[in-house]
Amino acid sequence: MEKLVLAKEGVFPVVRDHNGNAIQSEPKTGLQMPGTIQGEGKLAGVPSLFIRLSSCNLRCIWQMEDGSFCRCDTTYASFHPDEIVEMEVNDVFNWVKHNLGNVRHVVITGGEPLIQKRALAPLCRKLKEELNVYITLESNGSLYDADVADWIDLFSISPKLRNSEPNAEKLAAYNLKEAGPYKFHAQKRLNLSALQSYIDLSNSTDKELQLKFVVGKSSDYKEIKADFLGALNNWNDNDILLMPLGATQEEVAKSSPLVLEMAIANGWRYSPRVHIELFGSKSGV
Ligand code: SF4
Repeated sequence: MEKLVLAKEGVFPVVRDHNGNAIQSEPKTGLQMPGTIQGEGKLAGVPSLFIRLSSCNLRCIWQMEDGSFCRCDTTYASFHPDEIVEMEVNDVFNWVKHNLGNVRHVVITGGEPLIQKRALAPLCRKLKEELNVYITLESNGSLYDADVADWIDLFSISPKLRNSEPNAEKLAAYNLKEAGPYKFHAQKRLNLSALQSYIDLSNSTDKELQLKFVVGKSSDYKEIKADFLGALNNWNDNDILLMPLGATQEEVAKSSPLVLEMAIANGWRYSPRVHIELFGSKSGV
């Protein structure tokens, strides 16, 4: 049986384990129940259960308009995947089954979930065939896998712009060295063929797509138009979302006026980050 490597939250928020037994610690949401809401994108506000897989092929560190830096808000699932939980596909499925209640949406996130495509495909298949849940896959769009894609309802793709690259100045600010994945981020972040596959699949099936660009600088606009949308075909304005950069309410507040203007001027959607407003910058919510 294939195994998946999950980040420290695993399946969240939950009140029962994979055997259906009550667990002692209450969910990080502070609610006396399993489940939370999707905080971002077209399905913001929709009750959901999350599965966070560990590890990422990228290492995002952004610079904001005021010069300050802001890095990946789930470094424990990307930069430093040290607190991991290894689980068989059946066990992950059972955590979901025993905590689903009336929730019909399951969100698979990371890290970058498609790094674990071999075990992810059977999990998605089981979730769809046995629980008939609506599955969202959150990915950075640098990878595509047809076996996983078969079972996904919404591809929530967040392509990474040049501003996400961990240059020497940013690495120094976080006391990190330019080695391994930090070195390869720039060459891996943009995969037009993968992005086009998501667009083509959503246009030829009833699967949904959102291309959710994280924006922190006014220069991001030209790049979205030229390097991404200008190089891709048959995308729909309705599927283009801009989301303010920031892992805290203060950071999101700094980016949001710029992002609002950009979204309105182009007829694209503005994506909120509702979970940060509701729960702060905590994991497991
Ligand atoms: S792609 Fe996503 S998970 Fe990976 S480092 Fe960037 S923000 Fe973090």
